Amino acid sequence: MFALVDANNMYVSCERVFQPRLNGKPVVVLSSNDGACIARSNEAKELGVKMAQPWFQVRHLERSAGLIAVSANFELYGDMSSRMMAVEGRYAPRQEVYSIDESFLDFTGVHSDLVAIGRDLRAAVLRETGLPTSVGFGPTKTLAKLANHVAKTADRKPGSYPSGLAQVCNFGLLTQAELDQVMAATEVGAVWGVGRRIGAKLTEAGVRTVLDLVRCDASMLRRQFSVVLQKTLLELRGTSCMDLDDAPAARQQILVSRSFGKSVTEMAGIVEAVSEFASRAAEKLRAQDSVAGAVNVFFLTSPFRSNDRPHSVSVTVPLVRPTSDSRHFVSAVADVVRREFRSGFNYAKAGVMLLDLQPATQVQGELDLFAAPDVQEPPGKDKARPALMAAVDALNLRFGRDAVHLGNSSIASNGHEVRSWSTKQERRSPRFTTRWDEMPVVKA
Ligand SMILES: [Mg+2]
Repeated sequence: MFALVDANNMYVSCERVFQPRLNGKPVVVLSSNDGACIARSNEAKELGVKMAQPWFQVRHLERSAGLIAVSANFELYGDMSSRMMAVEGRYAPRQEVYSIDESFLDFTGVHSDLVAIGRDLRAAVLRETGLPTSVGFGPTKTLAKLANHVAKTADRKPGSYPSGLAQVCNFGLLTQAELDQVMAATEVGAVWGVGRRIGAKLTEAGVRTVLDLVRCDASMLRRQFSVVLQKTLLELRGTSCMDLDDAPAARQQILVSRSFGKSVTEMAGIVEAVSEFASRAAEKLRAQDSVAGAVNVFFLTSPFRSNDRPHSVSVTVPLVRPTSDSRHFVSAVADVVRREFRSGFNYAKAGVMLLDLQPATQVQGELDLFAAPDVQEPPGKDKARPALMAAVDALNLRFGRDAVHLGNSSIASNGHEVRSWSTKQERRSPRFTTRWDEMPVVKA
């Protein structure tokens, strides 16, 4: 049995943990450069705000409906994510972090009451991080993902499914007739890996609901669509075709990770691995014509080797501006490893996740003030600075203090100096959990 645990409206929920004034209000989170809505609270969904909708199209709702927009704060989301994943990981022998807010748990061989475990897990995540989640159980990963969709939707839209399935939904407890009913009430596009394009094609062919899909002829699907869709069908019928770490790519992010054949104990080994992962992720990013606004890097010891002392690092770095340039990702992740590496641990796995993906075309054409110069001066000697500083000062004068500011500099392994300036993020909340000087202060 697999479980999929997914945070509800992750980015909005992270903001709400520290800003209770956002509770119950329509809230959207804007991508870097404040361009598009990349997360919506349920109230914002009710207002009709669509995923990835440009901010200028919904801006009028600020006045007319009290819509609140905040700039993405990936440093906060990444840190909240690792806290949440750590809690979830306690509940099953095996965990696969699938995206910034989703993880699969493998409950094979666990014979206790899974719904009770799910409710307990949900309460623990809420108590320890403040994040609301939904939990779906199913005999295959695709069914667990679908059960999660049902758990979340039943909670958000009462009446859409039987209320007993809200928040925690275990398909393993349903009779065949009940499962058919749930599948008949669910659009085919909600199935994992189907997506909008194939969903539209299926709908056109008369396959509207998940139940329609389950009743399709497998070889027909393979011929007319793909072998992947055939696999999906088998998974929906309860035949497991995907193990942990074996899944279609998540939308909105690119993850490259690997377990090491032999544990790594040297900093150089981790730097080398994550540099390679970052380059591979950047290649994928460029292949799909996107740019990323943030990068997450993680490395950890094995949770299965009980003799090893545990250590796990997961840090999310917002980038200067969205980019697809490998060098920026490589230096950011190498920098984190140099800062966070501790010797004396047997590291077993590492990975790099690119976040805040946007079409490259959206970002090209903007005035590229902050592009790294092609010719790098030796560190410390920097002729371009005065002109740049003058530009920064002029921008701050015109758009307000800290519209643009200098961040940390670092020297990457390839010798390039990396400089960071923050992008336009006028509405970003403090980085409550990762910066001492931005920690919330409680007055009692
Ligand atoms: Mg989610």
